[in-house]
Amino acid sequence: MRNVSGLVYGARVTAAADPAISVSGLRKSYKDKTAVDGVDLVVAHGEIFALLGPNGAGKTTTVEILEGFRKRDAGEVSVLGTDPQQADGHWRAKVGVVLQGTGEFDELKVDEVVRHFARFYPDPADPDEVIRQVGLAEKAGSRTHTLSGGQKRRLDVALGIINRPELLFLDEPTTGFDPVARREFWELIRGLRDGGTTILLTTHYLEEAEELADRVGVIAAGRMIAVAAPAELGGRNTAKARVTWRGGSEETDTPTAVVQRLAAEFGGEVPELAVHRPTLEDIYLRMIANGEKA
Ligand code: ATP
Repeated sequence: MRNVSGLVYGARVTAAADPAISVSGLRKSYKDKTAVDGVDLVVAHGEIFALLGPNGAGKTTTVEILEGFRKRDAGEVSVLGTDPQQADGHWRAKVGVVLQGTGEFDELKVDEVVRHFARFYPDPADPDEVIRQVGLAEKAGSRTHTLSGGQKRRLDVALGIINRPELLFLDEPTTGFDPVARREFWELIRGLRDGGTTILLTTHYLEEAEELADRVGVIAAGRMIAVAAPAELGGRNTAKARVTWRGGSEETDTPTAVVQRLAAEFGGEVPELAVHRPTLEDIYLRMIANGEKA
C-alpha cells in the first residue's frame, strides 16, 4: 500500500495508511480550459474535510471526479479503495452525493421521494428516520415544489444519506439556509461524523468550514494551495494578536502580557478590552489574494 501519511496534516489525523480518499496529480481540462491542474488530496476515514476556493477554482470538477461522475485526464484517484472511474453498484451504495441544488420532484411528496430513493439501495436507512434527521418531519406529506429553498436542500441531504453512506459528498450544502437552519444542518453533519461517516464538502462559508471541518483545503486556479486544520491555516495559530481598548490598540505576540500591563495601568478593568486574532476568512482572503503557499 502506498505510504500517504506524509501528505496528511492536522491534529486529529495522525496516520492514514488506508485513507477514504487518496488523490495525486489529478488533472482535468475542458477543451483548452484547465479546471484541475495537479491536485493532491488525502482524506482519512471519519474526517470532515472542507474544500474552499473562489468560483471556478475547480472544486466541483474535483468532487465530480471523486464521485465517479466525470473522467479525469491524468492522476491517481482512490475512493474507498476503488477508482471511481471503474466503480460498480456495490461501491456506489457506499457513497452518498448531494449535488448543487436539485430538491424538486414535481408533484411527488417528500416522503414519497425519500421512499422511492431508498428502494435503489440494498440496505437503506428508515425513510421516516431520515426525514426526521434532516428536519423535514412536518413537511413529510408536502409536495416538493411547495418547499422553501432551504427545505429543498434538506431534501437533497436526505437523499444523499438514505443509503447510509460510508462517505458523503456535499457540494455547497447550506446555500440559501437561514442562520438557524444552517446551525441545525451543522448538527446533522456532526451527528453523521460521530456515526463514522467520512464527509467531503465544498463551501463558500468560512464559518461553516471552521465549525465543521477537521481540515480544510484551499483550491485556487485548479491547484491545492494549502491544506491545514482551520485553526492553523496560513499560520493562523501563530499570527500576531491585536489588543484593543478604549483609546488604544497594539499588535503583539504576547497579548496576555499586554492585558496584564493594561490592567495595572487602569488599576483594574480595562475599558472596551478585546483581543483579536485573524479569522479563517481573513487568512483565506489573504491567501487567495496572494496566491501564496501555506
Ligand atoms: P464554484 O465555486 O463557482 O462552484 P468550482 O470551484 O466548483 O466553482 P468548477 O465548477 O470545478 O469550479 O469549474 C472550474 C473551471 O472549469 C471553471 O473555469 C469552469 O468555467 C470550467 N468548467 C466547469 N465545468 C465545465 C464544463 N462542463 N465545460 C466547460 N468548462 C467547465
